[in-house]
Amino acid sequence: MRQAQATLKTAESLDSYESACSSCPINSKARTFCQYIAWQDQSLSEKALAAAAAKDITVVILSPSAEGGMPHTRAPNVICLPAYFPEERLAETMRHELVHIDQRKNPQAWREKLAAHGWTPASREEIPQQWRSRVRINPDTHSAQFWKWAGRYIPLPLFEREDKPVLREISVRWWDAEEQRLNSQPPTSFTQKYGSLAASAAEHPYELYAYHNR
Ligand SMILES: [Zn+2]
Repeated sequence: MRQAQATLKTAESLDSYESACSSCPINSKARTFCQYIAWQDQSLSEKALAAAAAKDITVVILSPSAEGGMPHTRAPNVICLPAYFPEERLAETMRHELVHIDQRKNPQAWREKLAAHGWTPASREEIPQQWRSRVRINPDTHSAQFWKWAGRYIPLPLFEREDKPVLREISVRWWDAEEQRLNSQPPTSFTQKYGSLAASAAEHPYELYAYHNR
């Protein structure tokens, strides 16, 4: 457990994820009841590693409430799973998280891949503060937070309730940088390429390709 805590500390020094959450009012409020600490029993990490068939990664088991119980990654090569995560879902989940690790390791290759599929990085300033301040921070997408589809549309995972944000309750809305308005439906060109996606996949191209690697 001490080692797992040290791994989290190193991760934080590299990606500043926890400090980003705590310095954002809505994101810290949504995590009020989440305890982001290493779990006493780390034995699940062995099973996860066995299910992954991957080298050069570290698996840390967190308290069940950490990040609302959602598996995720941290810098540089850490996969975080909540305690009591169902073993039958380990293989699939590790496959997904390994895509995020690859995104962390090879940002330039991913930039090129996504560009070939119609995605370009967007700057924070392109999104009005009103919406930007309501975006759920995701550890897997935080290093390259905003992307534009078809040179125009930026998906934003917005907390459904501004007054009572719940970590798992988000809707993806689309900022149209050309018309300067927020749409609740994805652009037709996006749906034509990717079909109808769950919010967890549509929120960011990193998630899209982690769920539907192609
Ligand atoms: Zn993911």
